[in-house]
Amino acid sequence: MIKQYDIVIIGSGIGGLSTLLYLTETDDFKNGLISIAIIAKGALDCTNTSWAQGGIAAVEAIGDNFESHINDTLIAGANTNNKEIVNKVVRAAPELMKDLIRWGTNFDKNFHNEIDLAREGGHSAARIWHYQDQTGQAIEQALLAQLYKFPNVDILEFTQVTQIIQIQNGFFQIQLYQLNNAIFQDIISCKLVLATGGLGMLYEKTTNQKLSTGDGIYFAKKLGATIKDLSLIQFHPTGLAQEGNIAFLISEALRGAGAVLRNNSGQTFMANYDERADLAPRDIVSRAILEEMNKTGTNHVYLDATKVDTYFLEAHFPNIKRQCLDICGIDIEKNLIPIIPVQHYSCGGILVNEFGESTIPNLYAIGEVACTGLHGANRLASNSLLEAIAFAKFSIKKLLQISKCEINTQPLALKPNFKNIDIRLLQQTMSKYAGVIKTNQQLSKALEILLKIKSDAILENVPKIEFLQNEMMLELAIDLLDDAISQKENKGVHFNLDLV
Ligand SMILES: Cc1cc2nc3c(=O)[nH]c(=O)nc-3n(C[C@H](O)[C@H](O)[C@H](O)COP(=O)(O)OP(=O)(O)OC[C@H]3O[C@@H](n4cnc5c(N)ncnc54)[C@H](O)[C@@H]3O)c2cc1C
Repeated sequence: MIKQYDIVIIGSGIGGLSTLLYLTETDDFKNGLISIAIIAKGALDCTNTSWAQGGIAAVEAIGDNFESHINDTLIAGANTNNKEIVNKVVRAAPELMKDLIRWGTNFDKNFHNEIDLAREGGHSAARIWHYQDQTGQAIEQALLAQLYKFPNVDILEFTQVTQIIQIQNGFFQIQLYQLNNAIFQDIISCKLVLATGGLGMLYEKTTNQKLSTGDGIYFAKKLGATIKDLSLIQFHPTGLAQEGNIAFLISEALRGAGAVLRNNSGQTFMANYDERADLAPRDIVSRAILEEMNKTGTNHVYLDATKVDTYFLEAHFPNIKRQCLDICGIDIEKNLIPIIPVQHYSCGGILVNEFGESTIPNLYAIGEVACTGLHGANRLASNSLLEAIAFAKFSIKKLLQISKCEINTQPLALKPNFKNIDIRLLQQTMSKYAGVIKTNQQLSKALEILLKIKSDAILENVPKIEFLQNEMMLELAIDLLDDAISQKENKGVHFNLDLV
């Protein structure tokens, strides 16, 4: 008999964990009426949430107001956002901060014992709630501590979802692979929440965790759900120029604190591109950096934090300071930090309504995997942690509408052949031809290379999990390119020189 749950949540970042915690606060859960499992393909805290630095946006300061946060979100999103959603999320934000605090999140306070709000690029007021430069870790650890209080929630860690199909009654059959003992197993769920995060590993350079491979979007598409704006990828202007796939993020809060960008000749340049200079939205800063790199023939520019007060740096950016020293031997109080724009955030994803419901009955998407309409064509800094917890809360009533019945089914069959794909070439292609600045020719070239990777893939009979994973990434990357090619105008993060 395959184990059956009322609700399965895939993902243990802020999206998955806050959905779970809101569920545990309902009478249905307290009265033992619903069974829940939460699944993560790595350790529970191996999430992008844990790596979030800058913080989470919510109106709090005297003089700040909802209209201003709404307006900033719409400006960043090139006015393509869903205005009702922006309104709903921004107005919910202060209450959501109370929920995070109730669950144990520690935000920095100032000398007056008030929340120490920071200001970030694109925000016209200080409204970023943070814990040093490790806000995500503070949130993740607080939510995980709550999770462990519920022994009746099944926690499936180091368990990768490899297939999902919809069966009788609109329920889901989910194939799992236990990474520690190499066993495939199936479960059934009445409702399914995809909280699987972003897709940074489709690119050669990303700020994302290595687990960010876009699985949720792939599964949702296979189930027939609508995917929207997959090509709207936000590149972060200030990834540390370092070896390997993952670029340590230098939060823009550092620019908010006074750090400035300099080109190879040591000149500041952002004022030449935008009146907001170093605090312009990320897409504008990323393009300006690439232009400077082109002009000066270099492969990075610099971030200069040497004029930021030393005490302030140590109090607010201890992690950035430590990581720059550990990774590159750079003392940010004395040296310039070499940086490059890198993949950072997926603005599009599984299309959901105001309750986090996808276009497929019983299937929900919460967090970065979803396209809620909050961000429009570009995400405003610190609005993504907010979006995840907001939609977790908005989804609860609908999630609890469960039709109970026992399902009998056979375990899902394994794929007969696994394809060994050149994932490195895929990542290089995506970064080279589908990066910050695109052209029609480059996008077609990228698609051609990816289709060739697909046709050249070597069939293997060994059921290696990375073969499955890489195949999913290839399909997703092809969909992303198709979406980029279909964009008819430049908006937000989408910038195609042929559409200028
Ligand atoms: C370096 C960095 C800094 C950031 N800073 C900020 C910030 O300051 N403010 C802000 O608002 N946003 C920030 N962001 C963005 C924000 O952190 C993410 O958008 C958000 O944390 C995503 O949360 P999530 O719950 O959707 O996914 P994640 O936190 O990434 O969690 C994804 C989960 O899904 C699981 N999973 C994925 N696929 C499978 C599968 N096949 N089977 C089983 N489990 C699976 C993973 O194991 C993981 O548990 C930052 C992102 C990065 C990378």
